[in-house]
Amino acid sequence: MAKKISIVVSVYNEEQGLNQFYDHTCPILEAAVAAADWDYELIFVNDGSRDNSLDLLKGFATKNPKVKVVNFAANRGHEAAMIAGIDISAGDGVVCMDADLQHPPEAIPEIIAKFDEGYDVISMVRTARADAGLFKKITSAAFYKVMNKMSKANFENNSSDFFGISRRVALVLKKDYRERVRFLRGYVQNVGYKKTTLEFKASARVAGQSNYNLRALVKLSLNAICNFSDAPLKMGIYAGLLSLAFSLILIIYSIVQYFLGNAPDGYSTLVVLISFMFGILFIILGFISEYLAIIFAEVKNRPIYIVDSIITSEGEERC
Ligand code: UDP
Ligand code: MG
Repeated sequence: MAKKISIVVSVYNEEQGLNQFYDHTCPILEAAVAAADWDYELIFVNDGSRDNSLDLLKGFATKNPKVKVVNFAANRGHEAAMIAGIDISAGDGVVCMDADLQHPPEAIPEIIAKFDEGYDVISMVRTARADAGLFKKITSAAFYKVMNKMSKANFENNSSDFFGISRRVALVLKKDYRERVRFLRGYVQNVGYKKTTLEFKASARVAGQSNYNLRALVKLSLNAICNFSDAPLKMGIYAGLLSLAFSLILIIYSIVQYFLGNAPDGYSTLVVLISFMFGILFIILGFISEYLAIIFAEVKNRPIYIVDSIITSEGEERC
């Protein structure tokens, strides 16, 4: 029996570009599987879109029996959507990609070839980003530098949410990586197995606009750091030691000044010390709260996503 590739596409308010995505991707996908003697399924996860995306997706499912639509009950975010797609996938290889054509479907034949060569994880690395400004490029590079320093795990610079994983990696993700606070591409790159990278050029969005604002990016980065490293938690020890050394010097200095008969100006010393100490203290407290929030979210054990219905060419099944 032919092997099957599952393409997982997360969709949130993409009505403006969806038709173009489908019309562009399907022929490429069909040609790719025909050439490699594979089969395919195209899984769209509608992440609580508030526009007309769902109707468009239903249209695709009606005309193409290989299309499956997982319709979320509410918006749960890009990562939850990818996880849902991976959960429902039945392929020997799974590829996650965006719905805005920033992840070129032209790369699918190469990915299938890598699966055929026996690779389990295929990271797609951006060589260029048409829509990213200097700020995004610098912060993204700095982020991966910091992550690699702070954590034992390895993060591919410029990696993206465009990746291919074999069925056994998908099974690991389905079974064991069920955290509520997560960094999916970090997991994918650190499960092990046989791994390779392919390069791609990220073009500009076909239509609509990015759903990741600065706040979402900061949150994702913070989640990633707290998820893969406990260095911030240990910051308190170093800050404590540092301030201890600092205060010892100040104590000696003050005693010496006292005996010399010229008492130091207490006001400025106090202001500087207090603001410095409180600054450090609140940062540490903030990090501890961040970990606490993660533990809280995990302990509550709520579902990563809630499915409203699953739509195929055979109709809609409510869950
Ligand atoms: N997306 C999603 N849920 C969200 C936000 C985004 O499923 O809450 C999808 C979106 O439809 C797109 C992909 O995730 O297919 C990447 O989003 P976007 O293009 O906005 O991010 P960027 O490419 O700017 O990082
Ligand atoms: Mg995009």
